[in-house]
Amino acid sequence: MSVFQHNIQNDSEVIYADHAATTPLAPEALEAMLPYLAGSFGNPGSHHTMGQQAARAVLSARERMAELLHCRPREIYFTSGGSEADNQALLTAADWGRRQGKHHIISAALEHPAVLRTLGFLESQGFSITLLNPNRKGWISVEQVCAALCTDTCLVSIMTVNNETGMRQPVEEIAALCRTQGVLFHTDAVQAVGQIPLDFAEMQIDLLSLSAHKFHGPKGIGALLCRKGLTPVPLIRGGGQERGSRAGTENVPGVVGMAEALRLSCAGMEASHAHIARLCDRLTDGLLRIPKTYLNGDRACRASGIVSVCIAGIERDMLLLLLDQDGICASAGSACSAGALQPSHVLKSMGIPDELARGALRFSLGRDNTMEEVETIIRKVTEIVRTLRGTQGGMG
Ligand SMILES: *Cc1c(COP(=O)(O)O)cnc(C)c1O
Repeated sequence: MSVFQHNIQNDSEVIYADHAATTPLAPEALEAMLPYLAGSFGNPGSHHTMGQQAARAVLSARERMAELLHCRPREIYFTSGGSEADNQALLTAADWGRRQGKHHIISAALEHPAVLRTLGFLESQGFSITLLNPNRKGWISVEQVCAALCTDTCLVSIMTVNNETGMRQPVEEIAALCRTQGVLFHTDAVQAVGQIPLDFAEMQIDLLSLSAHKFHGPKGIGALLCRKGLTPVPLIRGGGQERGSRAGTENVPGVVGMAEALRLSCAGMEASHAHIARLCDRLTDGLLRIPKTYLNGDRACRASGIVSVCIAGIERDMLLLLLDQDGICASAGSACSAGALQPSHVLKSMGIPDELARGALRFSLGRDNTMEEVETIIRKVTEIVRTLRGTQGGMG
């Protein structure tokens, strides 16, 4: 039988351990969205009652999100998700820099492709980019940023939590440093929002990206938080939605679902965090008992449900395929690089050798995972690795 002809899994048998790729929609968020997918379908730009109902829903979602994120409602610009928010944040800061005569940007080699590719574009537009490499644990230090700053620097962009290792970066300190230097600071907080407390008013962050589907909201909706005094440059021109910064009829069900998902995530944050931390500790202990298995990152700085390991001598794609057949959804790294056989750019930037990075395996747990599921994952991975090493050993 071809390895691709596996049975379609019954949902109840699937262990979903890929929350860094996306999360299931919270039932409460779906419930909140339904009226705007059906009866209340008005356009918020219309002046009749139906339109105004939709406009009120968007306004109220904006206000609730502002309260949860500790920002002003006017500092929220809805986007189609994290990638768009990252693109818009960087182009906005670059535009600001150009007007100040500053053309240098500092970021890190472990950023999401939405940041890295946009930086590549800006480089083609005449900006010079410094990409900092993290240490072996996947961590960028304030000192590194400080050393890279120069009088031409207009922007520093460092993500809050890395999507492959779960490592939390010292963004509060970096943001404070940038503020004293008159440099804008952006953070891709897609893996942090809804998982760790963030206070936009308190932190000296100028631009922050978030995406609903990473915190049990719907796909295709996110936001750019942009500090008062700075206006996002539009990527999409047209009508005057989002105060001229993002044209297009508002995604009303998306916005409503995102606000509800954020409310739930924030309300249950402490309990979920403790639960997920226990699961991660057990999963890490269990996986590290497999011989020649190494943790990517560092337990102490782990902020989310991500456990990433490298298993020596294993082809991750075969391992993932076999896990999938057993109903376990995991990933090699980011969803974007999965399928492409190159080792992850994040692990590479941490100095992990390519041969080892080819055996990278990422589990990302969520609030609905159980300890029993974690035990199953450990058992299955251990079995599969033993089998694969057996056959590979036989072939020399
Ligand atoms: C998922 C993710 C993105 C992209 O968000 P989309 O809403 O899928 O565009 C950006 N950055 C990080 C860190 C992510 O994990």
